[in-house]
Amino acid sequence: MVDEPDGHHAMRLETGVALINALTGDHVHGRPKPALGGHDLVRVAAETLGNGQIDLLTAERLRNLASRLREIIESLSRREHDEAAGLLNRMLEDSKARPSLQRHGEQSWHLHFHGPEADLVQQWAAGLAVSVAAAFGEHIPHRVGLCAAPRCDQVYIDASQAQIKRFCGLACQNRVKAAAYRARRSGS
Ligand SMILES: [Zn+2]
Repeated sequence: MVDEPDGHHAMRLETGVALINALTGDHVHGRPKPALGGHDLVRVAAETLGNGQIDLLTAERLRNLASRLREIIESLSRREHDEAAGLLNRMLEDSKARPSLQRHGEQSWHLHFHGPEADLVQQWAAGLAVSVAAAFGEHIPHRVGLCAAPRCDQVYIDASQAQIKRFCGLACQNRVKAAAYRARRSGS
């Protein structure tokens, strides 16, 4: 099988993480996160994918896809690898992911993981299932993790060699550092 360069997986993982963070999770950076509905859900989904053609049903299907991805990343972050592999295999099957060379207009042939008949959500489902499976199973240098800070459900990509990233960003890292400092000062 022809493989895509890692760059495609990395780009797709970034979009997957953006979808998970935009459409799912109950907390962000220590604060409750209101659930999105209706117009807001459509707007955020459209912004995240940079696609103005998204309707409410599509946005709801994208959120469902993001929830399934979150479940996989959560089981990976608990090191429940058998469970994560089972969830990923089911997602690969449901998404009908299959390699297919396609060409759009004058572009050169390139590899997709969905058939030409797939709609937008099916395309993302197949591509993301393959890329998350590649990150997990083939140890491409990208790990998707769950923020370790309290009351934050954000996920992140760790592309560092040492794979020591624990937080979604500086906001949460500093929040945890400040809490540890306060705890030391108060002698507890
Ligand atoms: Zn965080």
